[in-house]
Amino acid sequence: MLFKKKDEITSEYETIIIGGGLAGLTAANKLAKNGRKVLLLEAHNKLGGFATWFKRAQGDHIFDISLHGFPVGMIKTCKKYWNKDIASRIVQLKGVRFVNPMYSLQSDFTVDDFKSKLTDHFKCPTEQVETFFNELMNMNYYDAPKMTNGELLNHYFPDRNDVHRFLLEPIVYANGSTLEDPGITYGIVFSNFMSKGVFTFEGGTDLIISMMKDELLKNEVDIKLQSKVDRIVFEEGPNGKRAIGVEVNGKLIRSKSVLSNGNLMSTIFKMAGEENFKPEFIEKAKEVRLNTSSCQVYMGIKKGESIPQIGDLIFYSEAPEFKTDELLDIKTTSRTFSVYYPKTRDDDRYTIVASTNARYEDWNNLTDEEYEIEKNRMIEDTLTAIEKLVPGVREKIDFLQASTPKTIKKYTHHEKGSSFGTKFEGLDISMGLHKEVDGLFHSGSVGIIMSGWLGAANYGVIQSYEVENYLDRV
Ligand SMILES: Cc1cc2nc3c(=O)[nH]c(=O)nc-3n(C[C@H](O)[C@H](O)[C@H](O)COP(=O)(O)OP(=O)(O)OC[C@H]3O[C@@H](n4cnc5c(N)ncnc54)[C@H](O)[C@@H]3O)c2cc1C
Repeated sequence: MLFKKKDEITSEYETIIIGGGLAGLTAANKLAKNGRKVLLLEAHNKLGGFATWFKRAQGDHIFDISLHGFPVGMIKTCKKYWNKDIASRIVQLKGVRFVNPMYSLQSDFTVDDFKSKLTDHFKCPTEQVETFFNELMNMNYYDAPKMTNGELLNHYFPDRNDVHRFLLEPIVYANGSTLEDPGITYGIVFSNFMSKGVFTFEGGTDLIISMMKDELLKNEVDIKLQSKVDRIVFEEGPNGKRAIGVEVNGKLIRSKSVLSNGNLMSTIFKMAGEENFKPEFIEKAKEVRLNTSSCQVYMGIKKGESIPQIGDLIFYSEAPEFKTDELLDIKTTSRTFSVYYPKTRDDDRYTIVASTNARYEDWNNLTDEEYEIEKNRMIEDTLTAIEKLVPGVREKIDFLQASTPKTIKKYTHHEKGSSFGTKFEGLDISMGLHKEVDGLFHSGSVGIIMSGWLGAANYGVIQSYEVENYLDRV
């Protein structure tokens, strides 16, 4: 059932899921399908987490925040762990473009196309390209990190900044990884995308999340929105501490297990409390680095106006060379434009969302006045850039707004507005949580690999098996 805000919850559950992001939702559905009694608590007034959208009456627009593209694996995941109707709306984005001072190319983002671009356009030897792709396709996340992204690219394509840019830039946008991150974080995500190209959900984020909500309710998951969990509650168990429920607005809701889909750091240090873990574990957890954040500019095209087909996803940059630092700079000229045509929601509307990577500190350290100035400057720079792709588009826009890392922090409770969870080392901590404290599990964007729509949903499934094993034991 869907609880109302004023409803009091008195039942006891087998699992309480904290947070309705894609990992939390998928874990909840999988557990409920297996007959488990599940309660999903979400702080916000809607489900989805980063998989979200917003409507603005001015101009009558709907904007998608994180529906820019995901790998084909999402079809299988939705068919298996959600339903066929959801899976059947996932379609390929054919127009992926790269526009920068080094090259201007269009690709369907598949292995074959990338291989031919590398040999024909970039003139890389065929054997070099084949061995590079073989190495990528054989990576899996149980492998210990060997090379960094930078070392991996330099090993196969030494001194080829243009090739590094072509191979890495889209993945930097997709999961925030940098040249210094382990090569595995690049290899796995890149080969996931490469298997068949980039996909989207026809109908928009509002539709997929509403279909997921219906499926959860059909499978008898109890859901309560606007319920921020303040504390995870523990008692002494046979193996030390054991999670026995959560506290919302000072009231205890009891459960046999708790799975947090909140930020890993907030889960350990704010909701659970470090006193409930061994000091060695806390030492390791303190070393986990957060991933960077994002800015976005939302542009709504007036009703009745149209724009030409310029591609669905355009990796646009004016930087002469590829540097991951430039992509994070507050004044970066590297942004992805996601263009939503009438086919997205089967209406007659067009919207454009420009996304850039960003550092929380760069925005948080500004005074209120500086913040407004920077935000307006970012909007203006974005308009200047999009005008180069669609001349005259400025006059067609009737809604303009921007978000920054501060906006992300405010709405998702992610520390430092981190868009892609934690760096690689967060994976071990997240997966090890239930080995530290009985009945406490984590699932959600960690380790770069387990982030993004597909990574988060699949991690929800992986952790639901751990919850099942525990429930079977107790
Ligand atoms: C700007 C941007 C663009 C992106 N673009 C893409 C893209 O094109 N393709 C792609 O695959 N991925 C993209 N992503 C990443 C992707 O959206 C996320 O990795 C994924 O949705 C994260 O899912 P999650 O399960 O980790 O949970 P989250 O989305 O982080 O959700 C966690 C939920 O938990 C709730 N919560 C937290 N604390 C509490 C509490 N104490 N009590 C109750 N509830 C709580 C939050 O409100 C939230 O709803 C993008 C992300 C951003 C920010």
